[in-house]
Amino acid sequence: MSAATPAGQKIYEGKAKILYTTEDPDVLLTHFKDDATAFNAQKRGSIVGKGQMNCAISTHLFQLLEAEGVATHWLDSPSANEMRVRTVKILPLEVVVRNIVAGSLCQQTGLALGTVLKQPLVEFYYKNDALGDPLLTRDRLFLLELATPAQVEQLQIAALKINQILSGFFERCGITLVDFKLEFGIDTQNRLLLADEISPDTCRLWNQGDSDPTQRVMDKDRFRHDLGNVEAAYQQVLERVLAQSIEK
Ligand code: UDP
Repeated sequence: MSAATPAGQKIYEGKAKILYTTEDPDVLLTHFKDDATAFNAQKRGSIVGKGQMNCAISTHLFQLLEAEGVATHWLDSPSANEMRVRTVKILPLEVVVRNIVAGSLCQQTGLALGTVLKQPLVEFYYKNDALGDPLLTRDRLFLLELATPAQVEQLQIAALKINQILSGFFERCGITLVDFKLEFGIDTQNRLLLADEISPDTCRLWNQGDSDPTQRVMDKDRFRHDLGNVEAAYQQVLERVLAQSIEK
C-alpha cells in the first residue's frame, strides 16, 4: 500500500500533458494541453483545440487496442481534455514503428521520403531530452539497463501488433499510418502497459486522397515545418477516427 497522496496534486508537467494524482494511488488524471513543441522543444507554439482533439483521438484508439487485446493504461475519459489512466512507471524508451520512410529515417539513411518498407521497422530511442532522445542499439539499451531482454522482446511484439491494428484502422479512415512513437510503462502488478497517447502529435498520418507531399500531411509535421492549417488537419483526423467504429 503506497502512502496516500492528496488528490489533484500536479506530479508531472510535460510538453503536451499534465499528470495529477487522484484519491486512488493506482490512478492518475492526465490533462491534455494545447501547447505544441518540436525539435526537442526548440520550436514552441500552440495548436488551438489540440488538447481536446488528441484526448478524443487517443481515447478512441486506446479503446480499439483494448478491444483487440492490447493492455493499455487507459481507464476512462471524464472530460473533453482529460483521461484517467493506470499509474505506471514509464520505461525511458520511445518505441518507434515505421511503415514508410520519413523524418529522421530519411535524414539518417538517405532513403527517399515515401519509400514503403518491405516490413515494419521497430526502433528504440532513449527518452532523454538532455541528450536529444538518441537512437539506441540493443547493446546500448542493455548497457544503460533501460529494459530487460524479456521486456525488449515483449515491446517488439507489442509494437508490431499495435502497428497491425492501427494501420488497418487508419486504412479504413482513408489515412496511411507512416510511422508513430509509443511509450510503455510497468504497473503496480508488474504488467507492461501501453501508455502516453496516440495522436497526430505522435504519428505521421498521410491523407490517401492526396498525393501532394505537403497537402497530404495530417499530423504534427504541419506544425514542425510551418505547413499551415494545423488545426484543420487534426480536426480532420478526429472526425475520421470517430466516424470509424472500433469493430472490424
Ligand atoms: N515522435 C514523437 N516524439 C518524439 C520523436 C518522434 O512522437 O520525441 C514520433 C514522430 O511524430 C513520428 C515518429 O515518432 O511519427 C518518428 O519520428 P522521427 O524519428 O522520424 O523523428 P522526427 O522526424 O519527428 O524528429
